[in-house]
Amino acid sequence: MWRLLRITVLLLFLAVAAYSTWYDRLSTTDWDETLWIGVFPVNAGGDGTAGAHIAALTQSDVGDIERFINDEAHRHGIRLDRPVRVDLYPEVEEKPPQHDPAGNMLSTMWWSLKLRLYARRNSHPSGRAPPRVRIFVLYHDPAFTQAVPHSVGLNKGLVGVVHAYADTQMTRSNNVVIAHEILHTLGASDKYDPESLAPLYPAGYAEPDREPRHPQTFAEIMAGRYAVDAATFEMPASLADVVVGDATALEIRWKRAP
Ligand SMILES: [Zn+2]
Repeated sequence: MWRLLRITVLLLFLAVAAYSTWYDRLSTTDWDETLWIGVFPVNAGGDGTAGAHIAALTQSDVGDIERFINDEAHRHGIRLDRPVRVDLYPEVEEKPPQHDPAGNMLSTMWWSLKLRLYARRNSHPSGRAPPRVRIFVLYHDPAFTQAVPHSVGLNKGLVGVVHAYADTQMTRSNNVVIAHEILHTLGASDKYDPESLAPLYPAGYAEPDREPRHPQTFAEIMAGRYAVDAATFEMPASLADVVVGDATALEIRWKRAP
């Protein structure tokens, strides 16, 4: 009797989780009303450089993310006037839970649950409506941090964590990473080889039909880099050098499969 009850409760819990993931996926990619995305700055090391950088951030620093996504949506045939709205939110004091990339499936599941609870706790500043998609941007002092941890965007829970440099010269390239993680939350997959970082052909190429194929001059957003030649891959300086390719457009339902 108890065993049956326990199994029923577990199945119910799984059904609710599956339903909410399915509902989030569909409702954030039906493109019939503006999807609200919030960018929440976090001071990664608690230092003065990142603190001053965060204090100086304004809405215009995230402006090109909204412009990029909306222009690309329109290019792919979305008719909604403003498919996404990207707003800068006040700084969040609490740091997101850390992910152990070498961890097993159970530890990843536990981390993802903690991250969803973190996002729920920290995305309702007083006097502001909470956004649907929450991107937490951890700013690192570039003088102390040579390499930042991997950024992540989770479709389950509509939350992303971006590691960025607290340097105004990096704002535009930070925004490329933020846009990449936003599209992950909407169901887009990576389009580069994790070993070599090469953009995958054709899905990870901005202009797959270009003759000759190299050099490419634009990057596909989920590839993150463009191929100058078959073995040289460059990161785009800003979203002005990035496109959303057809494969990504299909995944986030800007296009339907033919
Ligand atoms: Zn990615």
